[in-house]
Amino acid sequence: MGVMLDSVKRLPCHPKNRGGQRKGEQVKYLCYHYTGNEGDKAVNNAKYYQNTVVQASAHYFVDDGEIYQSVEDLQIAWSVGGKKWADCPQTGGGRLYGVATNGNSISIEMCGTARNGQRMASEATLQRAAELGRELMEKYHIPIERVVRHFDVTGKHCPAYLMDAGAWAAFKVRLSGAPGASRPTGGDGYDTAAGASPRPTEKMEMEMKMYHYVKDMPEWAREACTKAIHAGVVNMDASGAVNIWESNLQPLVWLDRAGLLDQAAER
Ligand SMILES: [Zn+2]
Repeated sequence: MGVMLDSVKRLPCHPKNRGGQRKGEQVKYLCYHYTGNEGDKAVNNAKYYQNTVVQASAHYFVDDGEIYQSVEDLQIAWSVGGKKWADCPQTGGGRLYGVATNGNSISIEMCGTARNGQRMASEATLQRAAELGRELMEKYHIPIERVVRHFDVTGKHCPAYLMDAGAWAAFKVRLSGAPGASRPTGGDGYDTAAGASPRPTEKMEMEMKMYHYVKDMPEWAREACTKAIHAGVVNMDASGAVNIWESNLQPLVWLDRAGLLDQAAER
């Protein structure tokens, strides 16, 4: 089997979140995703899909320390279905639409680790997800050409930080079986086989604006963000910058409206 597959814990998803059975020979593709969250854990994702009917699922959730299997390999997960994204002509996504499918793929979701508000996977999560993928490639005879991103199937921006061709190529080096590509895991901080961990690309940074200081933010977000800093919900780095993605400003305002930032500050 393999070190990663042996360590897998199981929390089956709600039966209404997945499809039926299939044979091992039907598994042709391995597909990578990100959860799009910050600081989430595999166990919590697995619990969510166990308890909530959302008619969606994935086989595995990987974080820094654990792997949870939510859908068995020989069950169909509902992870890459749905419409093709409208921006495919611009992004280059969706080239495998209708080719890689829920029926013939295994999906791995990478949990996100908060890094100054960026929805990134940690080095440990990336490496462990790659090692799990290598074991699945071996088990189901999936060649590296058929290891894909959700982005390749429907054009969804998933995983957003691997949409860039260079970042994806660097991730695939971890799957190649090249010497040094599979190192023991044990947390953050060691070099990757590819020599660089994928970073958000310039293109992503253009699409996802980041605010470093409250004064640069739109007026409507400033009060909530200031409260969030006082409440310890948002942290400043050594230079006093908060580094918040634009997409995270609105949730802060909602927290503030709910009175939660006041409560947190009073604690
Ligand atoms: Zn996805």
